[in-house]
Amino acid sequence: MQGIPGFAGELIGPDQAGYDDARAVWNVMHDRRPALIARCACADDVSRAIHHANRYGLTIAVRGGGHSLPGYSTVDGGLVIDLRELNQVLVDPVARTVRVGGGALLGDVDRAVQAHGLVVPAGVVSHTGAGGLTLGGGVGRMMRHFGLTIDSLLRAEVVLADGRTVHTDERELPDLFWGLRGGGGNFGVVTEFEFRAYPLGDLLVLATFDPLERIHEVLGRGEAAMAAADAPDELLWTSFVRKGPALAPWLPERYIGAAGVMSLIEWSGDLREGREVLNRIQDELAPTASSLDRIPYLAIQQVTDQLLAPGTLHAYVKAGFTGALTAELIDAIAAQGANVGSPLSVIEVLAMGGAIGKVANDATAFPHRSARWLINVPGQWSDAADSEAEKRWVRETFAALEPHLTGGAYSNFMEGDEQQAADLAYGSTLTRLRAVKRRYDPQNTFRLNQNIVP
Ligand SMILES: Cc1cc2nc3c(=O)[nH]c(=O)nc-3n(C[C@H](O)[C@H](O)[C@H](O)COP(=O)(O)OP(=O)(O)OC[C@H]3O[C@@H](n4cnc5c(N)ncnc54)[C@H](O)[C@@H]3O)c2cc1C
Repeated sequence: MQGIPGFAGELIGPDQAGYDDARAVWNVMHDRRPALIARCACADDVSRAIHHANRYGLTIAVRGGGHSLPGYSTVDGGLVIDLRELNQVLVDPVARTVRVGGGALLGDVDRAVQAHGLVVPAGVVSHTGAGGLTLGGGVGRMMRHFGLTIDSLLRAEVVLADGRTVHTDERELPDLFWGLRGGGGNFGVVTEFEFRAYPLGDLLVLATFDPLERIHEVLGRGEAAMAAADAPDELLWTSFVRKGPALAPWLPERYIGAAGVMSLIEWSGDLREGREVLNRIQDELAPTASSLDRIPYLAIQQVTDQLLAPGTLHAYVKAGFTGALTAELIDAIAAQGANVGSPLSVIEVLAMGGAIGKVANDATAFPHRSARWLINVPGQWSDAADSEAEKRWVRETFAALEPHLTGGAYSNFMEGDEQQAADLAYGSTLTRLRAVKRRYDPQNTFRLNQNIVP
């Protein structure tokens, strides 16, 4: 194995113990064999690894949390710049800011900020990497209240394709800062993020389940709640068309494994007000089964950690946006939902709006702020023998929904096999993103991502 002069972290090659663990990523579909895994201890290591890759003509994959659905954080025969040791999280509870290492997981961030009663809006599964999630935009249960993850980004430390380490914010290299907020890992390796954090206590969560026949009532109620002119930002509606889950103690046994609509209607504001709002929704919806609970943020962020554990599932995803849950869209969701195979495959109907839409569409590189719903179709299954059937269900489902969507795709919920993937992901911001790419990475050194060709 070749060494890297001055490298302070760990270098792991194919003949070393620990190679198989080190190369594993979240999605087991991507079983790749890098020539070298450079586990960086500092920004200078990242720079040394980039020079090494350039010198030997190795394709670079950058690994944060390893959760890329298309497997962009690993590469056959190339060099993985592995950031997982850069996972420090430093909170300033007075300024309400937090510095987060480029390889930290959401759980690292959540634990550190919640110790001070704070939150950084991010995703919903705690072993996801903060790095990849942030650079793509960052959707999650706090987004209507506090915005996308990128809307809380204040500053970043980035190692560029030429090996230089720079700092960027609204004033310093503002074009780079703009591009990082939604443009993915296209411009460099972020070794540290700095975020704004917000006060947050426990959440109230109304969980409901109904058989598929009631889908128009459920999604119609969700549409009315989220489309209302006075819809509170503290309220988030998510519905999942899926098989009834075995692990919901409030769900009667006869619904376990039966296709239906499960909703999580969450409140992140004043608890008394939230109880009134959620009680009213529960009364109006009259769900077949439901449960209304007060849940600590750290607990709800870990609810699906075991079910979706790294290295246990195959996954394939398509997603798009819409302005409204029309009757035709709901019909298409119901028809495809009836054919769902794996108990972990779902059609997720996730409300956007709120704080997301209060940021101008061109203020960051994320161009989908006017959408009211994100429709996400992740197939997730454990047996490789099911791969073709599950992928087919995702493709057929998305093809059936697409005519009723308004276009565009979320770069973190894509495969990269889509036609004109960059247009879908970056839309109106693509031309400007290309200019930023030409300035910071003209050779396309960082190409394993939803790639912006310079
Ligand atoms: C179980 C699961 C749950 C998820 N939940 C959500 C969710 O709630 N909300 C949401 O928005 N998304 C979610 N996602 C999607 C997730 O945001 C993306 O998969 C994201 O890319 C993961 O980031 P990562 O650092 O873990 O992945 P990695 O595979 O390590 O990296 C993903 C991409 O980002 C680049 N990258 C990562 N870190 C850096 C860095 N520091 N500097 C430069 N480039 C970097 C990589 O090169 C790669 O292109 C989920 C994914 C999974 C598998």
